[in-house]
Amino acid sequence: MLCLCSLSVFAQQWNKKQAAVVLTYDDALNVHLDNVVPALNSLKLKGSFYLTASSPAFTNRLKEWEKVAAGKHELGNHTLYHPCDGSMPGRSFVTPDYDLSSYSVRRISDEIRMTNTVLQALDGKTERTFAYPCGDTKVGDISYVDAIRKDFVAARGVHSEMVQDKSTDLFHIGSFVVNGQTGDELIALVKQAMETNSMIVFLFHGVGGEHALNVSLEAHNELLRFIKANEKKLWNPTFVEAANFMKASALSAATTTK
Ligand SMILES: [Zn+2]
Repeated sequence: MLCLCSLSVFAQQWNKKQAAVVLTYDDALNVHLDNVVPALNSLKLKGSFYLTASSPAFTNRLKEWEKVAAGKHELGNHTLYHPCDGSMPGRSFVTPDYDLSSYSVRRISDEIRMTNTVLQALDGKTERTFAYPCGDTKVGDISYVDAIRKDFVAARGVHSEMVQDKSTDLFHIGSFVVNGQTGDELIALVKQAMETNSMIVFLFHGVGGEHALNVSLEAHNELLRFIKANEKKLWNPTFVEAANFMKASALSAATTTK
């Protein structure tokens, strides 16, 4: 008997598309307002901006971030002061005042909740997602994930993965850190997501400068043009839209297997 189980019609779908591409931008940089938002808007694509609320490019340009949210992009939470664990290797940039290893779970979750309030004042939203600074999820040996679970729909980490619907922990969604790749290399990752019916989340910092982790404007534009040219096959949600989709499909899977 013919088995239809491997036909792509039965493969997971991303809002009726073959794959999903989520574009995330961390740390509230000026280049996000100056380079990225105009590039996304010109192609009607969406981005999720993980904002560190103490960043000067945030505090000095609040009205512009308000417009970014009104333009259907997502303002995500990346804490007030971006604390990272200074006891880990390669963390000489961490200052003692904002060393996560000397925080308490209460302090990090209070700062994260305060950031939600700041962002809500700009976009009016109560439903939000989070990105762990430096991918760190622990204060010493204690995870702070459970302490913030009720404040968010989902959270983004920094481990590379082609995200699978239904089998992914919404508070541990991976992403591909962009640093120096060419347009072709970024596009190859999207093609891999299409071949495997996955969601790919890109994590950008600098786009055309301003951060040690950086990608050229040209490579970023090439990626955006590829996503636009393949919009029949690719869904480009914000991170919160993607997470809500995954949540709903997990619920419907649970209902149908009962
Ligand atoms: Zn960051």
